[in-house]
Amino acid sequence: MNEPANTLTQPPVAAPGAQTTYDVIVVGGGPSGATAAHDLARQGLSVLLLDRAGRIKPCGGAIPPRLIKDFEIPDHLLVAKIRCARMVAPSEQRVDIPIEGGFVGMVDRDVFDEFLRARAASAGAVRQTGTFEKLGRDADGVSVVHYATRPAHPGGEPGLASARGRCVIGADGARSEVARQAVPGAEKTRYVFAYHEIVGRPEQPPPGYDGTRCDVVYDGRYSPDFYGWVFPHGSTLSIGTGSADKGFSLRNATAALRAACGLQDAPTLRREGAPIPLKPLPRWDNGRDVLVCGDAAGVVAPASGEGIYYAMACGRMAGEAALQFLRSGRPEALAQARKRFLKAHGKVFWVLGLMQRFWYSSDKRRERFVAICRDRDVQQLTFEAYMNKELVRRKPMAHVRIFFKDMAHLLGLARV
Ligand SMILES: Cc1cc2nc3c(=O)[nH]c(=O)nc-3n(C[C@H](O)[C@H](O)[C@H](O)COP(=O)(O)OP(=O)(O)OC[C@H]3O[C@@H](n4cnc5c(N)ncnc54)[C@H](O)[C@@H]3O)c2cc1C
Repeated sequence: MNEPANTLTQPPVAAPGAQTTYDVIVVGGGPSGATAAHDLARQGLSVLLLDRAGRIKPCGGAIPPRLIKDFEIPDHLLVAKIRCARMVAPSEQRVDIPIEGGFVGMVDRDVFDEFLRARAASAGAVRQTGTFEKLGRDADGVSVVHYATRPAHPGGEPGLASARGRCVIGADGARSEVARQAVPGAEKTRYVFAYHEIVGRPEQPPPGYDGTRCDVVYDGRYSPDFYGWVFPHGSTLSIGTGSADKGFSLRNATAALRAACGLQDAPTLRREGAPIPLKPLPRWDNGRDVLVCGDAAGVVAPASGEGIYYAMACGRMAGEAALQFLRSGRPEALAQARKRFLKAHGKVFWVLGLMQRFWYSSDKRRERFVAICRDRDVQQLTFEAYMNKELVRRKPMAHVRIFFKDMAHLLGLARV
């Protein structure tokens, strides 16, 4: 049984020679973990934020206005502001969708994630650099997080350390080790693998290049089941693609996309990739004291691969569920994080999942999909949903029009 609520606002405790006991140990300091740690520390809980550090998360870095507002992201972190999304079809037909009355922000993940971790620390979280290894349990039932610390000198052996936590939040990303050890069913998650190259913006950008426009390329040459992208980041760009097909060469496809955009000779600064989970896990907690969030819980939007907003929203809900659990001592409180998340975003994920399965399955369908995006109703509704994370209810006739247009496209009645 966990200790009652009146221990919550105490500093972490350690008897002489014993390990420190935190209210919450957050494993992983990406957007999800840093948000949970920040929120919990701000409530006065003792929080350890453990992150392995040393690697920039591969990511296109596009964030919607809702994230900027809800999580108070300062303007200086935005390296570009995107005012237009260009959808490109296999025939190279293009549809430009202006982003009216706002912008999509672009962040560099090394700076963005560090800002979030530092903010958690300034709210009172204790930061620790280390690699999570194993969950254990002490004789009194409290969870113990074992982790490897950095070698004291180059070439040295890593050290081993541990800390006790009344609650553990696993925010250690896709293929989460915390989820694998604690949450039944986590090992069954399927992934899209995404790869990108960070290149320096050439002094003479190729003709047509616009640093305030994101290009999203739907073309089987660049991905058989996802899409390719060119995202400007001020002085750099992210160019990449993704696929769940393990036989498809993402590197070759990215090289082809670079050549098609006239960016083949731009200096390559980094080449990197990572898996993106395809579906929320069926369970996020161990029924006792461990809960996962963000990519570790599988919350990336299908079709778009958008995960930063959802990771942060999920981290916030995980923090709230952990707080309720610690206050009440009732492990069932942990399951509220998943319930609340799916209530807020489950419908959008479901629609996007259908969309990905249908529209991304052949070049003929991709061509039609981009044609549909020419429609003003589609543009307004999809962008509203992306920007503000809400399905627009105030325009019922627009939904009806889209429904009939979609049907016409699905049945091949509409002209592309
Ligand atoms: C190529 C690519 C492009 C993408 N582009 C976009 C985009 O443009 N917009 C968007 O919204 N989403 C994008 N995503 C998805 C987005 O990056 C993720 O959904 C998001 O980063 C998830 O945040 P997180 O905090 O859950 O996990 P992560 O960001 O993966 O953070 C996990 C943290 O845990 C730490 N960690 C991992 N293992 C351990 C361990 N054993 N011990 C200690 N610490 C550990 C890591 O150091 C890291 O800091 C993209 C993903 C990829 C792969």
